[in-house]
Amino acid sequence: MSGTTGWIAIAGLGPGDAALITPEVSAALEAATDIVGYAPYVARIPEREGLTLHASDNRVELERAAHALTMAAAGQRVVVVSSGDPGVFAMAAAVFEALEQGPRDWRDLDIRVLPGITAMLAASARAGAPLGHDFCAINLSDNLKPWPLIERRLRLAAEADFAMAFYNPRSKARPHGFERVLEILREACGPDRPILFARAVSTPQEQLNVVPLGKARADMADMRTMVIVGSSLTRLVERPRGAILYTPRSAG
Ligand code: SAH
Repeated sequence: MSGTTGWIAIAGLGPGDAALITPEVSAALEAATDIVGYAPYVARIPEREGLTLHASDNRVELERAAHALTMAAAGQRVVVVSSGDPGVFAMAAAVFEALEQGPRDWRDLDIRVLPGITAMLAASARAGAPLGHDFCAINLSDNLKPWPLIERRLRLAAEADFAMAFYNPRSKARPHGFERVLEILREACGPDRPILFARAVSTPQEQLNVVPLGKARADMADMRTMVIVGSSLTRLVERPRGAILYTPRSAG
């Protein structure tokens, strides 16, 4: 097959619900010959004739990316899948890291990044609008950065009074990291600041829980949870159909 007909699309599958996959991503999945990704995400793609599913383990992003680039260079139509958005703590950057380090001819490939609904926005929409004013997003995993850098960014974000969205809050490999995060947040933001735990958003296991920081416990989060901490302006509006967590548009 000619190397010029292949392409690679790095696509976001959204937070879980098929209704939250964009038509652009669905079209790429239909045109693909090969799907590459972390096994639980590849499992979301229905099998069909002419489509090969390449499921890989977690933490092998660079190998996975190089494999996808190699197949596209050989003329295959490859979709690399991520959950949520592929540009948010996911495969798009890994593919570009592999591209930069790889053979020169990979740079001639047709490569597109197809956005998806990231967990932070899906969680925020379910709760109300906690990210309605300035906010930041921090990955709490220390796989790819040293822990002291995470603590520094946390403190500075709290000092700047951002609302904060936390990905990868907790894993078995890091049982104490998130406890430390809660301690730092309580020191910096006080016990009354609302914190949202949004688990498995848009799936049948979805669970939302808003508590004041003083009542937050580390075991309220796991690896399927998005954690959002309000700014000093974030409000909780109680009502019979469930509270609304939102941050007004203006400050100062
Ligand atoms: N690229 C993904 C994020 C990958 S990091 C995105 O844009 O959403 C994985 C982390 O995302 C998880 O640890 C969790 O914090 C969050 N996450 C992914 N899907 C989620 C969902 N459906 N509900 C809540 N959090 C989710």
